[in-house]
Amino acid sequence: MSRSVQIREVGPRDGFQNEPERIPTDDKIRLIEALARAGFRRIEVASFVRPDVIPQLSDGVEVLNRIDIPDDVQLMVLIPNSKGLDNALKVRDRFHEAAIFVSASETHNKKNVNRSVAETMADNAVMAKRVRAEGLKCAAVVATSFGCPYEGKVELGRVLDLAERFAEAGATEIGFGDTTGMCNPMYARDFFAAALERLPGVEITAHFHNTRGQGLANAYAALEAGCTSFESSFGELGGCPVPKGSTGNIATEDLVSMFHEMGVETGLDLPAVIDAAREAQRVLGRTLTSHSLVAGPIDWHLQSA
Ligand code: ZN
Repeated sequence: MSRSVQIREVGPRDGFQNEPERIPTDDKIRLIEALARAGFRRIEVASFVRPDVIPQLSDGVEVLNRIDIPDDVQLMVLIPNSKGLDNALKVRDRFHEAAIFVSASETHNKKNVNRSVAETMADNAVMAKRVRAEGLKCAAVVATSFGCPYEGKVELGRVLDLAERFAEAGATEIGFGDTTGMCNPMYARDFFAAALERLPGVEITAHFHNTRGQGLANAYAALEAGCTSFESSFGELGGCPVPKGSTGNIATEDLVSMFHEMGVETGLDLPAVIDAAREAQRVLGRTLTSHSLVAGPIDWHLQSA
């Protein structure tokens, strides 16, 4: 098993987009800067969706223009369609990675982006080309990879076919999203073993939601299968716009705590991640639900005293 992993913090996008109350831009910027100080070298910070669809993320350009973070932090933006890419490219120098996406299930894709999977993939192929031509890294995400709340089981072969098409279009990283928390650890292990075998040379990223409390177990299983790239959300923020009730990415601080306790390096400062989540709690004015936020990190020094 690998002794080090990469974690991309997705709270400022996947997390914030699910918040009903408008988060002031200044607070978003402050939180992203705190995350960079905690050691994240990959942060998803914005989404170029239509502002009337997700008003919470309509200040993406201002966030990108104003954040002040070290040069080696790779910023990712999510791009839903060509129009979104047009807008993102207006601030092309302010980010490094563009993520395009599709849902593996037809029904979820339709409800999420109001198009068929075929239409979405056709647009994605064009976008991937444009992203690469701009010298940006193209990442791709297959949502509902482990199950769909409307269609149930999603065939592994179907998910990997989509992933392969993304790779052929030029995506160098493919994230598999458990968008509504339907994966289980045994399936995660088989899935990531198959994905790694099918997509050599492509970075494979695990994106679990903790909707049903199995997120960390799934992450461990993915690690066991050889996956070393993960996405998570500080404070366990997050969810999915459809269907309602799909709350909770895995909490970054819990994921980091688990990895560190197992001797797996993340490059992150756990107390600083917890502080950032605590600050998010203050900004949002409600109690967040991650375990590490409630209990704090394990302090072996104190326990042995
Ligand atoms: Zn997600």
